[in-house]
Amino acid sequence: MLVNAYGAHAGDQPLEPLQITRRAPGAHDVQIDIAFCGICHSDLHQVRAEWHGTQFPCVPGHEIVGRVAAVGAHVHGFRPGDVVGIGCIVDSCKHCADCEDGLENYCDGMIGTYNFPTPDAPGWTLGGYSQQIVVHERYVLRIRHPEEQLAAVAPLLCAGITTYSPLRHWKVGPGKKVGVVGIGGLGHMGIKLAHALGAHVVAFTTSDSKREAARQLGADDVVVSRNAEEMAAHAKSFDLILNTVAAPHDLDAFLVLLKRDGGMTLVGAPATPHTSPNVFNLIMKRRTLAGSMIGGIAETQEMLDFCAEHGIVADIELVRADQINESYERMLKGDVKYRFVIDNATLAG
Ligand code: NAP
Ligand code: ZN
Repeated sequence: MLVNAYGAHAGDQPLEPLQITRRAPGAHDVQIDIAFCGICHSDLHQVRAEWHGTQFPCVPGHEIVGRVAAVGAHVHGFRPGDVVGIGCIVDSCKHCADCEDGLENYCDGMIGTYNFPTPDAPGWTLGGYSQQIVVHERYVLRIRHPEEQLAAVAPLLCAGITTYSPLRHWKVGPGKKVGVVGIGGLGHMGIKLAHALGAHVVAFTTSDSKREAARQLGADDVVVSRNAEEMAAHAKSFDLILNTVAAPHDLDAFLVLLKRDGGMTLVGAPATPHTSPNVFNLIMKRRTLAGSMIGGIAETQEMLDFCAEHGIVADIELVRADQINESYERMLKGDVKYRFVIDNATLAG
């Protein structure tokens, strides 16, 4: 089946309208009419071939919400009309230790929503900047938010789970002091989620203009990271720092803010490496530096339900498909509060 999409033919080309083929739903597949898709900074890294290995045409998008159009004969969990989400994972091996632990995100055979091998044409997966997607039921999430919030739910499928998973893994809750570095799509969700989990939250930003907004998102304190005095006031005090920055920067400036046994988790994935941290900043206080990638399917459902229960959605700006290129430029300038979401109805016609 041919559907309309938006994608790029090369890393140095803008995205443009194109048509792609979706497979007919198999016995375990769910066919979804996409209503909204968030624009993640990973989409930009990938479609501009910054991470290398991008296959073209590339149709990005892994923050997908929509409605079930049809289901395969063996699908029992979903029915046409259900409101569902698809995040960053559309397949995995289903039998390794990671899959059995519900951590499909760490399966060596994980298939991402775009730019991963698939038997479907053209040979690699194509994402949510499109009218429809067909996905095995195991990777389909249930959305329990009210209908009018759907566009703002879309970013939970990546920005939400990517921040929720490390916050839960490192047991963030009341009595814990948590820093969130970078107030973009991921960072603003990190602030909301850490606050909802009961932690004391400090937001770190390079943008003085985001100071007040960060408090409204739930930060107890805001530090402009370019200001050495403001940084020094928090020395040796954090249990966890979640670093979402999409560019290489000085990690040591944040490591020294961790208390003994504290840890910094990197989720930002810059195209070029950070300079190595000074190991003494780790050794001296038994600090750790870790990374974390999205989250498993069960954990993503848990996050969606937690957000529905606590009334949490992303702060978004809804855009038309023909505004995607402009949205990328604005995201690079930090000019977004805090996530662009595509209205996929604008792909029609
Ligand atoms: P985003 O909306 O562009 O936000 C990134 C934020 O980082 C910016 O708003 C800015 O915040 C800060 N920043 C940007 N450039 C900076 C610089 N040169 N120095 C210091 N701070 C800078 O991006 P996003 O969608 O949240 O994604 C963030 C990163 O996470 C990307 O690299 C993306 O690929 C990665 N990611 C990883 C995973 C995972 O599973 N680990 C999942 C999704 C995305 P301030 O203005 O507040 O400083
Ligand atoms: Zn993403």
